[in-house]
Amino acid sequence: MINIDLHCHSTVSDGSLTPTQLIARAILRKVNVLALTDHDSVSGLNEARLAANCANIIFINGVEISVSWRNQTLHIVGLGINPEYSMLVEGLASIRYGRIARAQEIAMQLEKIGIHDSLKGAYTHTGEGRLIGRTHFARFLTEHGYAKDVKSVFKKYLVEGKPGYAPHQWTSLRNAVDWICNSGGRAVIAHPARYRLDKNVLDELLLEFSALGGAAIEVITASHTQKQSLLFSRYAQKFNLLASRGSDFHGPGESYFDLGQMPDLPTGCRPVWHDWNNLF
Ligand code: AMP
Ligand code: MN
Ligand code: MN
Ligand code: MN
Repeated sequence: MINIDLHCHSTVSDGSLTPTQLIARAILRKVNVLALTDHDSVSGLNEARLAANCANIIFINGVEISVSWRNQTLHIVGLGINPEYSMLVEGLASIRYGRIARAQEIAMQLEKIGIHDSLKGAYTHTGEGRLIGRTHFARFLTEHGYAKDVKSVFKKYLVEGKPGYAPHQWTSLRNAVDWICNSGGRAVIAHPARYRLDKNVLDELLLEFSALGGAAIEVITASHTQKQSLLFSRYAQKFNLLASRGSDFHGPGESYFDLGQMPDLPTGCRPVWHDWNNLF
């Protein structure tokens, strides 16, 4: 049985391992095929690919793009992308630029409730690429005792309705799917259960996503219960979408699934890797 993990993060976005350390861990966890899917950045792919080549791991170029769709943030994973495709490169750069303004806004919100210097603090937790996100604020807040761990700090401060939440306009679903597809990749809706969409809205999303050229949805992911995985495997079949499997690993101690350590896809759905024959 091949162990495939098509969603994880490095220090290039909000993971805690460098791309090289991530591959070292993938070896230990007996992963055969790995996609690195950092948020809004492809700058870890070269390093990860080099390490994977030395280790006999088949490496897939990936990315996880932040999208706004009907006032909701969605994450779209791209698999098999060309990280040098200019529309993708420029699109991601503009999203990262937007993250800087959002981070300033988050810091201002936190300032209002008496939490000082959080922007500087969050930046001490970012990696070399300096992409900034809520996880970096979460690590700063945890470090300073505002909650016992990153998960609780999110709940208390960083999600919608909480004092450190700043609404943000990401790129469109169409842009994300276009950048991914036109660079030769396959677009996948990440952790679909997490958006808590009403049934009708979910149907509309899947139809729109397919019409735009989207190919797959994540069925096995850390954010899904067993029941939700089964539900989304049925959605995949109903909407003729492929099914993906990814841990969404961010780092030791911060993630529900370790690299490659999760259930297999339910029977009946078609894996997003079904035609990657040349890889195996
Ligand atoms: P951002 O893209 O900066 O808004 O941050 C999104 C990231 O924050 C996700 O990819 C997760 O890594 C993390 N995250 C979001 N919600 C939570 C939560 N409730 N608990 C822990 N981490 C979360
Ligand atoms: Mn993340
Ligand atoms: Mn995500
Ligand atoms: Mn992710």
